[in-house]
Amino acid sequence: MSFAIPAWDIPSLPVASSADRYPVRRIYCIGRNYAAHAREMGADEREPPFFFLKPADAIVQDGETIPYPAATGNLHYEAELVAAIGKPGKNIPVENANDHIFGYGVGIDLTRRDLQDEAKQMRRPWDMGKAFDQSAPCSAIHPVASVGHPAKGAIWLKVNGETKQSGDLTELIWSVPESIAYLSGLVELMPGDLIYTGTPAGVGAVIKGDRIQVHVNGVCELNIAIG
Ligand code: MN
Repeated sequence: MSFAIPAWDIPSLPVASSADRYPVRRIYCIGRNYAAHAREMGADEREPPFFFLKPADAIVQDGETIPYPAATGNLHYEAELVAAIGKPGKNIPVENANDHIFGYGVGIDLTRRDLQDEAKQMRRPWDMGKAFDQSAPCSAIHPVASVGHPAKGAIWLKVNGETKQSGDLTELIWSVPESIAYLSGLVELMPGDLIYTGTPAGVGAVIKGDRIQVHVNGVCELNIAIG
């Protein structure tokens, strides 16, 4: 097969302790999935989960420095546990959801908050606030065989060494299996799909020169910089 224009590489992430890589197909993100963050964004605590997407090529790898994005004066970090799907499924029952997970990573749902706020006010889509270039930093994927299914443990984010977000996976409003069950009733999940599972309270802005460090106990760490 030949393409009419040059084809691009499949976006991918390293797999921890492996030479293989994890190909990224779609990036689903869950909004407001920690109670304290839902409150800080002005929402009730147990609404049904809702989702938005980022493009696969928005992935940024651990250790990279990304340019401050265009068209924003309020770039926010959101520390998130990321689940990586390894087996297809639709209408997945909660009790089977873990069987569909290949592994886990640590990610940042970078957000142009000013554009997202404007979209909310005008009842427009969030895409330009959420799905911009290099908006999805993510660590290597750690297979379930080595990290299990993390359901408790600290999740924190530091900017230039100072703690900005600090939560625990037990505070997720919709657990990872519940989120997979719900999402798979809306779309068929496929290997290569990442799910950013939401962020704890404490979101805030970063500026050029900032270093962001995210940690999820029992999974790993992610470090990026804004250049
Ligand atoms: Mn988020």
